[in-house]
Amino acid sequence: MKYKFCPICGRGLEEKYSWDEGGVPYCSHDDMMFFDIPKPCIMVAVIKEDEILLLKQSYIYENSKVLLTGYVGNNETAEEAVYREVKEEAGIDIKNIEYLGSDYVKDKEILMITFMAEYVSGEIQKSCEVEGMGWTKLSNALEEMKEDVIGTKVVKNALKKILENQ
Ligand SMILES: [Zn+2]
Repeated sequence: MKYKFCPICGRGLEEKYSWDEGGVPYCSHDDMMFFDIPKPCIMVAVIKEDEILLLKQSYIYENSKVLLTGYVGNNETAEEAVYREVKEEAGIDIKNIEYLGSDYVKDKEILMITFMAEYVSGEIQKSCEVEGMGWTKLSNALEEMKEDVIGTKVVKNALKKILENQ
């Protein structure tokens, strides 16, 4: 999103030249530049032996399950966001998170940073923001999450890693 007004003081922004970015919207009152940058979000495939944690969120995809996702908060790393979101949304503990690459969600201006992780302990206690959540056999996962294009890619990458590590 290209900023037109200063989010702090509400004044109209001018354009200021930044040597590596070109013209950037700038508030001279707050002496701050407002870069047109995506929102960082994490997506994680949590693996428990031959099963994977999938969520049902009908408002995102009516007929598909999805992987657990969440926004990266201010003052935390993407990895910290993975641990926090899994704990908050699923109530379980994980370990050995592994980076699987990133993807860009154009219509939502999201940079999706994707991971896989190993289940450690805890019973699933889904947060009230989640409609449904449970363990699905890895062999059925791709079939059950057809509409989730990025999630499908992540699961394929995770399956590849699992095979490599065997
Ligand atoms: Zn301002």
